[in-house]
Amino acid sequence: MDALEAKEKASEAIEMHRDLLLEISHSIHANPEENYAEHHAHAVLTKALEGLDFAVSRGAFGLPTAFEASKGSTGPNIAVFCEYDALPGIGHACGHNIIAAAGLGAAVGAAAVADSVGGRVSVLGSPAEEGGGGKVFMIERGALDGVDAAMMIHPADVDLRWMTTIAVQQIHVTWRGEAAHAAAHPWDGRNALDAAVLGYMNVAALRQHIRPDERIHGVFTDGGDKPNIVPATAAMHWFIRAANPERLETLKPRVLAALTSGATATGCTVEYEWLEPAYADLLRNPAFEDLYATNSSSLGRVVPEPGEAGAVVGSTDMGNVSYVVPSIHPMVSVAPRGVGIHTAGFADYAASPTGDAGVIDGAKAMAMTIIDLWTSPTALESVANAFAATTR
Ligand SMILES: [Zn+2]
Ligand SMILES: [Zn+2]
Repeated sequence: MDALEAKEKASEAIEMHRDLLLEISHSIHANPEENYAEHHAHAVLTKALEGLDFAVSRGAFGLPTAFEASKGSTGPNIAVFCEYDALPGIGHACGHNIIAAAGLGAAVGAAAVADSVGGRVSVLGSPAEEGGGGKVFMIERGALDGVDAAMMIHPADVDLRWMTTIAVQQIHVTWRGEAAHAAAHPWDGRNALDAAVLGYMNVAALRQHIRPDERIHGVFTDGGDKPNIVPATAAMHWFIRAANPERLETLKPRVLAALTSGATATGCTVEYEWLEPAYADLLRNPAFEDLYATNSSSLGRVVPEPGEAGAVVGSTDMGNVSYVVPSIHPMVSVAPRGVGIHTAGFADYAASPTGDAGVIDGAKAMAMTIIDLWTSPTALESVANAFAATTR
């Protein structure tokens, strides 16, 4: 069976399972679950994979809502990531139900020809992309051992060859002072909210002297209870983003100094906790992107580079994957331009006919890309070479 024939057969298999894929996409969408609580998604995806004769490991890598499923016995091993966590309040506004269903579909398509052309596919169900870093723990626990390349698609309001990513780490900061009656004897108080506000303002001053691709943004999670009580505690949650992990390490102490120094000014104390893991930027692999873009174009879905076509800027734990194996993270348009991810409007599109088209097209383009890597040693080699050239 040549590559073209294999791609046709894979697409047919995806079409045959269209109802199952869309049912799963809609079912995950209707049951939004956050970081590490994705029990429904984990159940429906692993059940489907088992029904399709994949060897399935539930609760894989010590994470109850992670899984691994594989098919094929020889040849290059290509991993497809399924994300399925949702956001607080706005459900599947990042469309991870589409990522999960498209990943499943890609595996279904590839599996249909795995034995005939000689390849292995691993479906990696990765929880908690929205902050919990499921992929990072999976990597530490061996999820990418023996994997030659990894891919996923992400829905957006535009088709793109890659997402513009930056590294990120989160921090929780808590200030402690002394409570006192704010009118009767305020001189006895030490105001933790003042300490936090000064920290916030220090970051505002710092922002003028950071690089254009760096981002620092935080929210107050505790600002006291009542105006007539001097706040004894205050707390904030921040995201600190930079171009890559090295830049992030340079920026982090500057932000920390800005945040914590308000404590000295106000006679308070301060504690902080860096939330692990940090997310790396995504190392691009042009050779790999080319394969995907060619396959997607053959479906009538042209995948331009970010630029005039638009761009999506963010952070993802797929970045950490890209430091270990060659990786792609193309964006698949499922919503009109301007309806961005992480909005309630986008959540509606994630289960609409355009969302469904993203599932099927994404599945086919990924399955065909897997087949390229299985059948063409040149393709696999150029992807490996591009990875070697970009690894920091
Ligand atoms: Zn998101
Ligand atoms: Zn997302």
